[in-house]
Amino acid sequence: MHTSQKLPHLSYLKAKSFDEYQRLRSVSRELYILMQDIEQAILYNHQDQDHVELNGYCHVCDSFSHFKIDCSRGRNVNDLKIPNWREGLACVKCRLNNRKRGSLHIFFRECSPSQESKIYLTEQKSPLYKHVAQKFPLTCGSEYLGEKIAYGTMTKDGIRNESLTGLSFENNKFDYILSFDVLEHIPNYIQAFKECLRVLKPKGKLVFSVPFNINSPSNIIRAKVDHEGNIIHLKPAQYHGDPMSKDGVLCFQDFGWQMLDEIREVGFSCVEAIIYRSRFYGYLGNSHTVFVAQK
Ligand SMILES: [Zn+2]
Repeated sequence: MHTSQKLPHLSYLKAKSFDEYQRLRSVSRELYILMQDIEQAILYNHQDQDHVELNGYCHVCDSFSHFKIDCSRGRNVNDLKIPNWREGLACVKCRLNNRKRGSLHIFFRECSPSQESKIYLTEQKSPLYKHVAQKFPLTCGSEYLGEKIAYGTMTKDGIRNESLTGLSFENNKFDYILSFDVLEHIPNYIQAFKECLRVLKPKGKLVFSVPFNINSPSNIIRAKVDHEGNIIHLKPAQYHGDPMSKDGVLCFQDFGWQMLDEIREVGFSCVEAIIYRSRFYGYLGNSHTVFVAQK
């Protein structure tokens, strides 16, 4: 069923800095409480169930669908188990979770990509890549395979090897770069931003998500690499799921608002944090943020 014409508008906040975010937050406090109330009602309704399927509209599938909530795990708040909203709420049809569906939604809204758009996606072995590549024929995806094969070349399965800190692409190639929860795994993330800027066309946009501490003005460096290439842990090691390795991949930093200044210093003309939440589209939970940086 295609019902796009009648769908509610996804409204969101945009902020360029921590100060601007704090002003917006105080204005939108009542809305914040209202959404929290809706989420608590859903959880109370299903307290005795481990697995719940919440109805809603999947923007990726462009149809009504259900989103899976795992109530068996989560943190306890006032005797109520709050699930990991960000990584949960996978659509039963496209399998994309809350943050991936939301990130693509913001990409469509902010960029209005077309069939002619040249898109680089910093993942390839994922349902998200399949979805974007099906919709936009000029999509190029890659994975980080290290030194196993030369950068810019493909494995026999057609997986392209790229390192975000040294891309093989020529300058001014792409209209959009999409990168979802990758940059926190790159110790020299500033170099990765520089490379994205280089391969974007003028006015091209980098749309990305990272684990973001919305209440922190500065980044928190969890680990770094020393001159001899050894990993030095400054905080307890945190590993995130990775389609290319069963051990997961180390998180080097949790970003705060400092990151937006760093992106501007690299040479992007504009960068904004987009903060969204929606019951209708199944974007439950607080402070989901996607960043849009324009060359
Ligand atoms: Zn879906």
